[in-house]
Amino acid sequence: MIQLTGSPALKVQVMCEGIRYTPALGAAAAHSMPNYYPYRFKEGEADPTGRGIATIPYLINTPDGTEIRILGNGDSPWHVEGSLEAGYQLIDDRSGQRVAIEFEPLRPWATQKTADGMPYAQAGITTHGDMLVINVAPGCEYFLHKHEGQSMRCTFCAYGAPDERTKHLGQITGRVEILPDTLDRMRNALDAVIDQAEIRHIYLVGGSLTDARKEGERFLQLARYVKSVNRRNIPVALGSGAIPDDQIKTFFDEGLVQHVCFNLEIWSEELFAKVCPGKHKYVGYRRWIEALETAVKHWGRGNVYSAMVAGNELEPEHGLEWEDAARIALQGAEDLCSRGIIPIYSLVWPSGGRQRPDYHQRIRSYFEALSTGYQAIRRRHGLEVAETFMCHRCAYMQIECDLDRQAHGVPA
Ligand code: SF4
Repeated sequence: MIQLTGSPALKVQVMCEGIRYTPALGAAAAHSMPNYYPYRFKEGEADPTGRGIATIPYLINTPDGTEIRILGNGDSPWHVEGSLEAGYQLIDDRSGQRVAIEFEPLRPWATQKTADGMPYAQAGITTHGDMLVINVAPGCEYFLHKHEGQSMRCTFCAYGAPDERTKHLGQITGRVEILPDTLDRMRNALDAVIDQAEIRHIYLVGGSLTDARKEGERFLQLARYVKSVNRRNIPVALGSGAIPDDQIKTFFDEGLVQHVCFNLEIWSEELFAKVCPGKHKYVGYRRWIEALETAVKHWGRGNVYSAMVAGNELEPEHGLEWEDAARIALQGAEDLCSRGIIPIYSLVWPSGGRQRPDYHQRIRSYFEALSTGYQAIRRRHGLEVAETFMCHRCAYMQIECDLDRQAHGVPA
């Protein structure tokens, strides 16, 4: 069994245990990219803001370039001290270990606007590290449908609800086409970001449509537009749902994207049906895997990916202990890799079970077992994450790129 060491070991610990609030962490928010989730003080925790919540930075960078997403946790043994001038340190109370860190900086584009006055931050782009994510139609139709009283949205999803963002972007339920103005504003923002930060990957995503062919049409429109404005030829990944085979072929034939990532989210048909009821009803588990296999036929082994929500198996309703959860996830890794598909595991804390005293420990045990077991599987299948798809500088809650990098002897 491979053991985690160096930066990958640190990253897994900090992702699983979170970071507790300190004034230094709060002060860093002034010059850092802000976290999408504010820090929520737990009951009895010292709250210098007096508001119960505080803005904190989103991402940490260690000296070797490892990127780590910050999750606030008032019980964490990890905390931050220091300042912008003196430098920041991430400290483990248990061992006294101190790691010099920086935070992902707040770039000028975050407060700039398009020519017609829309903040770039609302124009359908976000970044993490050197990845730029384009999402000009975030509203997901699965949020609007129910069957036998059950919502069709994925149970873990907090970002697909039609809301203010969809309004800014002119997204209207039922209209497949993305408005030309929306695309042009996105292009303004894209140009500004690319001028201000080194972007090495573009990832096209969006909310799902209940008709996979219509979803494919929308992504074709988006990908053709991005191809026409991608002046530095940055590699692009298609992050749609599992669209029909003839549309997948069109993406390939037109050279619109270099990688494909249809997110299965969770392994086993039983869990998929429970966790992703919309994907299961409107596309289906088997069809999802078939679409990934079609993509492998075009782009080749190692260029087709599927994001997985690692940790969702630990939700109490599934009744699984971490050993079983890791075993099921690893079965999926073996199966997908044997088809030339690379799953990418993003750590997601289960929303239930927080009262368990071993809540954080079982997440860590699960994720360490999964990460080390999966690294061995990928090695056996000769699969590595393509640098053009994602890398250690943008993998903020995934560990595969860090492990591949370490395997190549880069300091970690
Ligand atoms: S398909 Fe699932 S994960 Fe994606 S936006 Fe819709 S509900 Fe969220």
